[in-house]
Amino acid sequence: MYADDKIVPRILGHENVGTIEKIGDIAKQRWGLNVGDMVALEEYLPCGHCIDCRSGEYRSCLETDSKRAGSLRYGSTSTTVEPALWGGYSQFQYLHPRSVFHRVPEGVSPRIASMCLPIGNGFQWAYLDGGAGPGQTVVVQGPGQQGLACVIAAKAAGASTIICTGLTRDAHRLEAAKRLGADHIVMVDQEPLTDAVERITKGAGVDLVIDVSSGGASEVIGGALKALKKRGKLLTAAYKKKPLNDFDMDIIITKQATFRGVRGHSYKSVELALDLMARKTIDLSVMSTHHFGLDKVDHALQLVGGKIDDGAIHVTVTPWN
Ligand SMILES: [Zn+2]
Repeated sequence: MYADDKIVPRILGHENVGTIEKIGDIAKQRWGLNVGDMVALEEYLPCGHCIDCRSGEYRSCLETDSKRAGSLRYGSTSTTVEPALWGGYSQFQYLHPRSVFHRVPEGVSPRIASMCLPIGNGFQWAYLDGGAGPGQTVVVQGPGQQGLACVIAAKAAGASTIICTGLTRDAHRLEAAKRLGADHIVMVDQEPLTDAVERITKGAGVDLVIDVSSGGASEVIGGALKALKKRGKLLTAAYKKKPLNDFDMDIIITKQATFRGVRGHSYKSVELALDLMARKTIDLSVMSTHHFGLDKVDHALQLVGGKIDDGAIHVTVTPWN
């Protein structure tokens, strides 16, 4: 949304895959693309010359921050900004000179490739930021799309034990987590996280917790810190929108723990997601639960937003259907 949260006309759709329909000579030369090439677009349209862009952290570029008035970003820029085609829920989309795109590997369908941004987030948080790898125990709190992406990335990175948590009402998503690589699922409304970690790790604790849950602030963060081993890491990507009450800061010192926020994906993490898709070592179709034409966008949004409960995890829209 925009900084002032004003509703503006816009074409939604920020996780986009498409084939090049038309391209000018300069873009062809600059991007190395040709008509017919399939690309996955990042939502960011970074400036390319600020310190964040120059250091590869272009997701932090203010020029593409959707909370800042006047910024450009696919899926949130208004149709009043020419040429209006800024979102994926349309037959054609404009490729701005600042576009960040990835080539879709051969043999990867657009439906699977369209998950490269959420799965890219998984690689960013679990692997690149969290350092998940062999011998490690990883907890993913929250079995939504981003949580499942973290399970996938932790699995692909070789983590030895992956625990995914949720609520009883998330049973179908937790089942999906198992199929995507989770070794244990925990319904935290039946068994508190700390008890489950004690049971599963036989008291050893975990190396990494990634919090992508919408759950209450102090219980979720406090429980996660208690579950960590000494020198463990807690990463959070879920806004709580309220302050943490009764938070025991000292546990960070006694455990020498790392507690940091994470946000979005880097170029490398999206490439890692596409590479996994090409290798097909994990059946990612488990996440892609629904598929519609452009005429059903409203229904698709209600599914993703949880207003209609039909077991949706990732939903794709194909405008040419
Ligand atoms: Zn920039």
